[in-house]
Amino acid sequence: MSAAPAIQPGTPPADAPHVTVAIVGAGACGLVTALTLRDAGLDCLLLERDASPSGSTALSSGFIPAPGTRMQREAGISGDSPALFAQDIQSKAHGTAASHLVEAYAQAIGPALDQLAERHGITLQVLDGFLYPGHSLRRMHAVPEKTGAALVTQLERAALAAGADLLTEATVRTLWVDAGQRVTGLSYERPDGTLEHLRCDLLVLACNGFGGNSAMVRELLPEMRDAPFAGHTGNDGSAIAWGRALGARLADLGGYQGHGSWATPHGTLVSWALMMEGGIQLNARGERFHDETGGYSEAAVHVLAQPGGVAWNVFDGPILALARGFPDFVDAEAAGAVKTCADAEALATLIGADVSKIISNYSSTTRAIGRFDTKDGAAEANPKRALQAPFYAVKVTGALFHTQGGLDIDAHCRVLREDGSPLPNLLAAGGAARGVSGNAVWGYLSGNGLLSAVAGGRIAAQTAVTQCAP
Ligand SMILES: Cc1cc2nc3c(=O)[nH]c(=O)nc-3n(C[C@H](O)[C@H](O)[C@H](O)COP(=O)(O)OP(=O)(O)OC[C@H]3O[C@@H](n4cnc5c(N)ncnc54)[C@H](O)[C@@H]3O)c2cc1C
Repeated sequence: MSAAPAIQPGTPPADAPHVTVAIVGAGACGLVTALTLRDAGLDCLLLERDASPSGSTALSSGFIPAPGTRMQREAGISGDSPALFAQDIQSKAHGTAASHLVEAYAQAIGPALDQLAERHGITLQVLDGFLYPGHSLRRMHAVPEKTGAALVTQLERAALAAGADLLTEATVRTLWVDAGQRVTGLSYERPDGTLEHLRCDLLVLACNGFGGNSAMVRELLPEMRDAPFAGHTGNDGSAIAWGRALGARLADLGGYQGHGSWATPHGTLVSWALMMEGGIQLNARGERFHDETGGYSEAAVHVLAQPGGVAWNVFDGPILALARGFPDFVDAEAAGAVKTCADAEALATLIGADVSKIISNYSSTTRAIGRFDTKDGAAEANPKRALQAPFYAVKVTGALFHTQGGLDIDAHCRVLREDGSPLPNLLAAGGAARGVSGNAVWGYLSGNGLLSAVAGGRIAAQTAVTQCAP
């Protein structure tokens, strides 16, 4: 029977194995933490509940934003800097993102990616062809496969090659904590239900947030209670439960990454690049209902508010060609999610909308849809150009991708008590900690998730090195 996350006063049995740094979770955050620790010569053990590392990272697109990397320079992109990146993050969050973390992560992420590339042989390239909403410059990096699964495979290979230890099928249930609030070790559950123990000098929580815990989603993110969760179900809010029991401060619990382009009923991502390149979203009445260039996270809420909680992504041939460069889209197309409409009448029939709604802006001479207005006229920016028949359409809904609130941490990823002082040897990063998106869905800038995981993992490891090195 599985136990709830718990705190146990004292120390694990003296005959339990010992490791300098224990890391809970082997997604991007845990793996980068382990890699950075090994680069500094510190021993560490990753504990992962699954049979092999995956997490939300493997389900993601794997796109990581970073300014000033070697890859960015090689792509001929100049003028980027941590300061500009930090400004973009804060603009999206209307200045509400935790400024100490914005600054720390914007500084750390470029060197982190350069180190993955140069020291660990992970090939990263800057995505071409379009700009993600809210980013001043092209700074989104990905492995050549452009999938989170390939990213995790590369990170795991590199971490093991660097000498990190990985224990899978080990679900951490209990943290042992002494009278001075030092974590002395942990207990983890094996698939047959047995509990095993480990002693450690320092613990890093890299076990992501609470998106996989429907009771917590209902409590903390009520507007997403009925939305599909696209992330990893093992992210059950353990870090928050341990934090609550330890008297740790929690922050930004209302922040999360939503996505307004989750193909339904297929359950796959349809890249927001389609919207940024001039695609539009129509509801079942054939109306536009928001400015699609605003951001895909808050689009989740806008889409869920439409009749039936769905919308249609509408685009044309040039955008289809771009979309086919995304593995997620290729999957969606293979699953039959992409419908072809010869003209606006066919599009209206597909959507089930009043044809006049759509053809009022349709020119049969040019076979193009010109300007669509939202009800409040807010969507002047899109489409960038008239969409030309044939049109393509994908039915989508709004989904929860991952939570951005969690344990409050300082710029060194040390978990803070209610009074703001750090716990002695407990660190958190990635989705386990508060992010850089403020306290609402609209604060999420594309890439904030893996930014927190990768930059946070690097910083947590550096802190561990200063605290544990002999
Ligand atoms: C469809 C989708 C697309 C996305 N695309 C992007 C993108 O392109 N760019 C971006 O920046 N973000 C993206 N995200 C968000 C991104 O995936 C997450 O922010 C990021 O993966 C978090 O990394 P992490 O290491 O903190 O967590 P995870 O990768 O989820 O790793 C946490 C690990 O901890 C393990 N774990 C949890 N509890 C325990 C326990 N008690 N004991 C042992 N192990 C435990 C889990 O099994 C998991 O392997 C996307 C998310 C989704 C769902």
